[in-house]
Order: sequence, then structure tokens, then C-alpha cells
Amino acid sequence: MSDLIPAARYGERLGAARIALRERGADALLVGVGPQLRWLTGYAAMPLERLTMLVLPADGAATLLVPRLERDPAGRAPASAAGLLTIGTWGETDDPTLAVAAALSRAAEGGRLLLSDHLWALHVLRLQARFPGATFGLASEALRELRAVKDVDEIALLRAAGAAADRVVEAIVAGRLVGRPEAEVAREIRERLIDEGHEQADFAIVGSGPNSASPHHEASDRVIGSGEALVLDLGGVRAGYCSDTTRTAWVTGGDAAQGPTPEFRGLYEVLQRSQAAATAAVRPGVPCEGIDAVARSIISEAGWGEQFIHRTGHGIGLEVHEEPYLVAGNAEPLRLGHAFSIEPGIYLEGRYGARIEDIVVCAGAGADAMNGTSRDLRVVSGI
Ligand code: ZN
Ligand code: ZN
Repeated sequence: MSDLIPAARYGERLGAARIALRERGADALLVGVGPQLRWLTGYAAMPLERLTMLVLPADGAATLLVPRLERDPAGRAPASAAGLLTIGTWGETDDPTLAVAAALSRAAEGGRLLLSDHLWALHVLRLQARFPGATFGLASEALRELRAVKDVDEIALLRAAGAAADRVVEAIVAGRLVGRPEAEVAREIRERLIDEGHEQADFAIVGSGPNSASPHHEASDRVIGSGEALVLDLGGVRAGYCSDTTRTAWVTGGDAAQGPTPEFRGLYEVLQRSQAAATAAVRPGVPCEGIDAVARSIISEAGWGEQFIHRTGHGIGLEVHEEPYLVAGNAEPLRLGHAFSIEPGIYLEGRYGARIEDIVVCAGAGADAMNGTSRDLRVVSGI
């Protein structure tokens, strides 16, 4: 599905990566299977012990080295099909690091080589042994800022993934919940994500009652009851790009007496104000930690600062967690095209918790939300 990104984009990205290499005094990128390879070439291969590697010298032609048996799929990758790189192959009995050496210039062999962040240690150690004169760094040095800024095609894919996840949220809160184990609802979420066009359903957090106070709760066999909170945090990958949204419901079982407690309503009102204020604070130039501070100050003023136990958000794109991170200590300014979550939460351990999460893109006029379902507390019968 990566052909949804026009092939010309890969040419722009390879060109921008070369410039970033030169700016950092690095000689080449050596990129194995993973999101960095996908971003540069559109090639989404399985990570295996057989080496697949894009060799991108700062001043030279790009080569995509693949095991001979994978020549066809590699050749169909957008950047290969567009002639932006040459495919090189190695055979079952060859040493693939020799092929890497052949694709690098002599100068680069003793220079500074940036390895993809997700490259297996197996490959890293072999490359280090092959190039004893080189120094090594992470490819994210050159690629992090480039990848964090999404282009219009990427934003369209994030929006489509978000809309699909929204439909799953609506279906789940409108459906039966009372009497069902969390794990069964989680399974339904995964199935619906796939039905909505996701190729992967990566997570389906269903936290009911006291489990709603555990931000990364693993859906369990606990049966959802009446008169309790329910946190739903779901997402996956659609056309290569990730969805991730959280909504909090209160399940009544159809009994008005089982509605949200005044304390929970108060907690949720604070949370909703926090999430809305953080979203309203988004604009180019605001430091990432500034968004976290806005969200946190509202929750702290209400006395629940200690119960907001995680950062406010994370970048999202080809990976569900990537740059930029909205966390104290990250002074990096937001830029046009940054895509990230805004997901404050309040968790009263052993009792209940709530979280609201949207993916937003930093636009000139402020935050452009990729999720559009109601952020109000969803009081549902669940029967
Ligand atoms: Zn989430
Ligand atoms: Zn998230």
C-alpha cells in the first residue's frame, strides 16, 4: 500500500537524507529493514537474519542490497521501480558485508557510518568487523527531523487511519459490554480494525473498573460490569500509517442509579479541560515540553498531578511511537507537519482512571485533529 505515497517523494527523501548526512559530517547511511527503510524507499520487508540493506553514501548512488531470492519484491518497491536506486543481490553462500563494502566508496569505509536504529545486533557486529576503521552512529541523527515532519500524503494517510479507528470506537461504545470479558471486547476491536482496512491491529487496551487505572493494561478475563469506568485505547497500521486513539466510557447497564460518581465526573471534567487546553496550545514554535506543561498544570491544579503518571504524547507515523515526544525536558519546537498524540490521563490506583487521546498534526492555524469522535465522557448502557 506504500504506493499511496507518490514515487517522487522517495527521490526527495533520499536527496534530503544525503544533505543531512553531509551537514553532520557523516559518510553514509546503512539502513536495514524497518521504518527508516520504508520511509526512504517504500520497501517493507520482513526483518530476517539475511541482510537487506540500503547503502546511501553522502555523495554517491544509492544501492539496495537484498538476498538474491528477494530481488523481485525489492525491485517492485516504489524507490526501485522509479529508478532512484540500484538493486544489488548477494547469494546464500556470500558474505553480505562484502556487498556493503562494494556499494560504499573506499573513503566511506573508514568514515562515519550511520546505522538504522532497528538494525539487529547480528548485523551491527558483522559490519563493525568489516569496517574496523569506521565510526558508527544512528541513522536517526540524519533522519529524525526529516521523518518527524509529515508531508501532505502522510497526513492524508494518518487521517484515514484515525477515521477508521474512530469508527471502531463508536461501534464498541454502542455495543454490548456488560457481562463480557475485557479480552473478548479486545478481540472484537482487533477484528473491527482489520475490517476497517488496517493491515495490523497492534493494540486494544480494554481497562474496566480498577483496570482503567492502569495505562498499559493488558485486556484480561475480567468481566465488565455495570457502574464502572472503561478505558478503550486502540490502534494499528493502515496503509503503512498508524492509528492510536483513546476514549473513556462509563457503563451503566441501563440503570440510572449506576451512573458516574460525582468524583469521577469531576475527574473527567478536569481531564477533558487538560486535553482541550493542550490541543489549543499547539502551534509552530511552541516547545514540545510546553504542551506537556499545559496539560499537566490543569491536572496538577485540581490536585491529581501525581496521578498523571506518563508524558502527554508521542510522535506517530510509520511507527506508533516516534519523534517528537511531548515530555518535560524536550525543548524542541513544534514544526508544521509534526504529528503526535495528546493523551493526558488521571489514574486512581485500584479504583478507576480515564484518558483521552487524539492524534493531531501541527498546522499553521493550530492542531489539526486526526480523530473526531466526541471527547465527552461516554455514558453508555453497555447492554
Ligand atoms: Zn493510545
Ligand atoms: Zn498513544
